[in-house]
Amino acid sequence: METDARANFDAVISIGSNIGDKAGNIARAISLLTAGGSIQLAARSSDYRTPPWGNTEQDWFVNACITVRTTLSAHDVLARCQAVESELKRVREVHWGPRVIDLDVIWFRGESIDEPDLIVPHPRTLERAFVLVPLAEIAPDLVIAGRTVSAHLSRIERTGVEPYGE
Ligand code: ATP
Ligand code: CA
Ligand code: CA
Repeated sequence: METDARANFDAVISIGSNIGDKAGNIARAISLLTAGGSIQLAARSSDYRTPPWGNTEQDWFVNACITVRTTLSAHDVLARCQAVESELKRVREVHWGPRVIDLDVIWFRGESIDEPDLIVPHPRTLERAFVLVPLAEIAPDLVIAGRTVSAHLSRIERTGVEPYGE
């Protein structure tokens, strides 16, 4: 199990949208997730425009990452993320297909969890520039699987992941 005593947050959540008001959906998701007070925002990356991953026959995404403080368990954080997806009317259709909103638990207090409904650290994090680029903005020194986020990012292709807006 990796721990990072320097982390001033308990969890990392990746958020993406490629339907409708993509950046607006991300902003709403963050508001909803933190509205109850049990999950508090520590830091928010800026928004990035990113190419679709896995299923490339779909529209581009806006992605961001947040770090949060919470006393909830990892499973409870996942449940809150899924509640936000429902509130934003996410409909599950195609695997890795278009979605109004997607919230993934990337990291949780250095814990390693491997259960049917929850795997942490999120298993595809280290190959995804759309996660690592925003995460490197807010937590470059976070250690996942033995390396910092910055180090992981330097090893992968990040073409097409660009600042969005402004
Ligand atoms: P990917 O996981 O590759 O990013 P996805 O986000 O499109 O794909 P979903 O359809 O949103 O996949 O989620 C499928 C299932 O993944 C969820 O029902 C959830 O239980 C499970 N899951 C496992 N680990 C995690 C995690 N760390 N964060 C979010 N969901 C997870
Ligand atoms: Ca996802
Ligand atoms: Ca997901």
